Amino acid sequence: MPMAGSQTDDGLAALRKLIARASRGVVFTGAGISTESGIPDFRSPGGLWSKYRPIDFGDFVASKEARREAWRRRFAMSEVLGSARPNRGHQAISELVKRGNVTTVITQNIDELHQASGVPADRVIELHGSTMYATCLGCARRYELEAIRVEFEKTEEPPTCFDCRGLVKTATVSLGQAMPEAAMRAAEEATIAADLFIAIGSSLVVYPAAGFPLLAKKRGAPLVILNRDPTDLDEVADLVLNREIGDTLHAVVNDAH
Ligand SMILES: [Zn+2]
Repeated sequence: MPMAGSQTDDGLAALRKLIARASRGVVFTGAGISTESGIPDFRSPGGLWSKYRPIDFGDFVASKEARREAWRRRFAMSEVLGSARPNRGHQAISELVKRGNVTTVITQNIDELHQASGVPADRVIELHGSTMYATCLGCARRYELEAIRVEFEKTEEPPTCFDCRGLVKTATVSLGQAMPEAAMRAAEEATIAADLFIAIGSSLVVYPAAGFPLLAKKRGAPLVILNRDPTDLDEVADLVLNREIGDTLHAVVNDAH
């Protein structure tokens, strides 16, 4: 039996019911789920991006000083990113994938915490890439960050590719950089096939990402929005929960049915 008022709440019961019926659910996540793991939301007021102008892709390619600054900023974040662990929100989503209610996690986050929580990598679509490794812009060869850090701290030289001498950059999608085609296509296919779409921890302002919830809705899937603050799409959603993410998902997935 439920022990506390929140667990008998109508919103939680409604979400539980929608999830129980779903077998092709899609979960879409933004920064709000990772802030509960201690990762700052760069775009939020007071976040890093309001202090430091983001380095856009054109500047990164054109200027060695911009590349140096990009790597300095990345390594300044290493401790936070390296010690962040999946929270109850990530774990609950992982459980829904395991149970077969959710097939795909589409994320705007670059921290790999969904994979760390146990969602198989081929079920996670990273719309903005990953900051947990780097790739060559010329030939796409993968580089691990630790080796780059050791070298960069010695020389302050931004890394280049051993194979093609191309520029090496974290595997993120920077401002001004094209959205990754394969990820966008996979996200669209999963969304079209979805029988439930749950948007979590995203203000749903940034396009093209914000288009996915609308696409799901248009295709007839119930749309659920779970976010601490109201979003632009609340009025088209079937269910809106303005709550803490980890607590809510934990209650939905683990408490009495
Ligand atoms: Zn290369």
